Amino acid sequence: MKKTLCILAFHRVLPKKNKLLHDIMYAERFDKLLNLLKKYFKILPVHEAMRNLKRKGGPSRILSITFDDGYKDNAMVALPILNKHKVKATFFISSGFLYGQWMWNDGIFEVISNITKNQVQTKFDLSKFDLGSFDLSTIEMKRRALDLILEQVKYKPDKNRRKVAKDLLSAFNVPPPENLMMREDDIKTLYDAGMEIGGHTISHPILSKLSYQDAHKEIFGCKILLENVIQAPVRTFAYPNGKPVADYTEHTIEIVKKAGYQYAVSTVPETLTSSISDPYQLPRFTPWDRNPVKFTTRLLLKMLAGQR
Ligand SMILES: [Zn+2]
Repeated sequence: MKKTLCILAFHRVLPKKNKLLHDIMYAERFDKLLNLLKKYFKILPVHEAMRNLKRKGGPSRILSITFDDGYKDNAMVALPILNKHKVKATFFISSGFLYGQWMWNDGIFEVISNITKNQVQTKFDLSKFDLGSFDLSTIEMKRRALDLILEQVKYKPDKNRRKVAKDLLSAFNVPPPENLMMREDDIKTLYDAGMEIGGHTISHPILSKLSYQDAHKEIFGCKILLENVIQAPVRTFAYPNGKPVADYTEHTIEIVKKAGYQYAVSTVPETLTSSISDPYQLPRFTPWDRNPVKFTTRLLLKMLAGQR
C-alpha cells in the first residue's frame, strides 16, 4: 500500500464558539477532532512526517497538524489539547507579530465584531474607504460583510492593508486588538513541549507582490529571529496565503531554498504520496467541515483514493 500524508492548516483555536466566525476552530471542536484523527492517522510534525513518508515501512496514513501566523490562543487553547492527546504539531510563525503587532484582517474583524456586539447597526457605510456599504441586520449579513471587506483588502500592498485596518479602527473608535499574538516566551513554551516551529515571514506579506530583495528580507529574517528564540534550527516554512503564482512564485521558492529551509507548505488542497512531493510546495488542507466526524470520514476517503 502506498504511504500518504495529509497536512492540515489551522489558524486560531478560540476558547469558545464564535457566531461571527462560525467556521473557526474552537476548543471543544478541536478536542473532538483530535480524538478522532489520532485513531485513524499517525500524527507527526511536518519535518518528521516527511521523513516518515520517504522511509520504507512505518505507518501508511500520516497526518500533520499545522497552525499559521502565531495566535496567542495556539499556546493558551490548542497546546493543552494537543498535550492531552499527546499530539505534536507544527506552528508557522510570522516573527514580526511577537512584539505586539497584529494582522490587518484581525483589525477589521475587531471593528465589525465590536460594532455588532454593542449595537444593532443595520447600515455600515464604508464608501469613504472605497469598500462599499453593508447591511448588518442579521448574523449572516455580518459574516458576509466581513468576508467581502477582507476579500477587497487582501491583495492591496501591505502598508495599505494596515492603513485601512487602522483607519477603520479609529473611525469607529475601536481599540486595536491586544494580546492577540504569541510572544517569544509562548514560542519557547511550544518548542519545549516538543512542537515544531516553522517560519511564516516577518510581516505576513503576499510574497509574490514583493521585490526580490524584500522577499529575501522577509524569508531570511524570520528564520534568523525564530532560531534565536528557540536556539535550534527552523526547517519548515509556510507561504502566507499559500496559493501558487498568486501568493508565491519561482523566485520565492528559490529564496526559501537559499535560506536553508528543507520543506515549505502551500495551501493547494491535496494529499501527498511518497512519489509526488516537491519539498518546497507541500499541499495542505483547511478542515472544510464543521463537523469533526464528517471531516475525518472525508479525509479518510481522500487518503484511500490516494493510496490506490
Ligand atoms: Zn498566515
